[in-house]
Amino acid sequence: MILTLFGPPGSGKGTQAGALCRRYGLIHVATGDVLRAEIRTGSETGKRASELMSRGEFVPDDLVLGIVRDRIDAALDCGKGVLLDGYPRNPDQVADLDSLLVGRGRRLDMALVLEIDDAKLISRLTGRRICGECNRVYNVNTNPPSEPGVCDDCGGRLEQRADDREEAIATRLEEYHGQTRPVLAVLEARDAVVRIDADRPIDAVRRDLARAVAEARA
Ligand code: AMP
Repeated sequence: MILTLFGPPGSGKGTQAGALCRRYGLIHVATGDVLRAEIRTGSETGKRASELMSRGEFVPDDLVLGIVRDRIDAALDCGKGVLLDGYPRNPDQVADLDSLLVGRGRRLDMALVLEIDDAKLISRLTGRRICGECNRVYNVNTNPPSEPGVCDDCGGRLEQRADDREEAIATRLEEYHGQTRPVLAVLEARDAVVRIDADRPIDAVRRDLARAVAEARA
């Protein structure tokens, strides 16, 4: 099963993805997480992505396609499904994903869309902290760790993303509305979209996501 978790920055994709993947044995492919890891290791991919990402702009389609292709192939090789997170993010990426999957006898089965207003997103994003080791997501106001600055799961140090500053947030929201929302129209025409109200407690959103995946598998 190939799914994508879809929604504006700060809608809770990273928070929800881990539990969903554990429950359904899916491989989590978060293009933003992979790009940040590439930046940390100083790879060629990281160098191409670094400045664009810190400004909140998209990186080139070919760069993310390479990331997604390698990880989908690895997942399919071991018989696993995939939860994409942050991909596809514009209509050209939908076309890239379609050709990739058709070549492997697959298709994008469903987009799970987390819906929330922009006004709420800004405070979520400025309060967000992420574990540098395991990528668990916290919020200093609404979902803090037990000990400030330290991950409850692995003891890693919590970091603020470079693009969780206000100017970069504004650019990311513009990119979402301008480039990413049109993807939804394309997927809706295929009847492959489930919308979930993300402005609710984490557990309520988690239950709805799990139910949507269970129904799609039935
Ligand atoms: P995210 O962690 O999903 O918020 O992504 C962080 C940043 O990574 C984005 O603002 C983009 O700069 C870059 N990025 C992640 N996924 C994509 C994608 N599918 N297309 C283009 N840029 C991406």
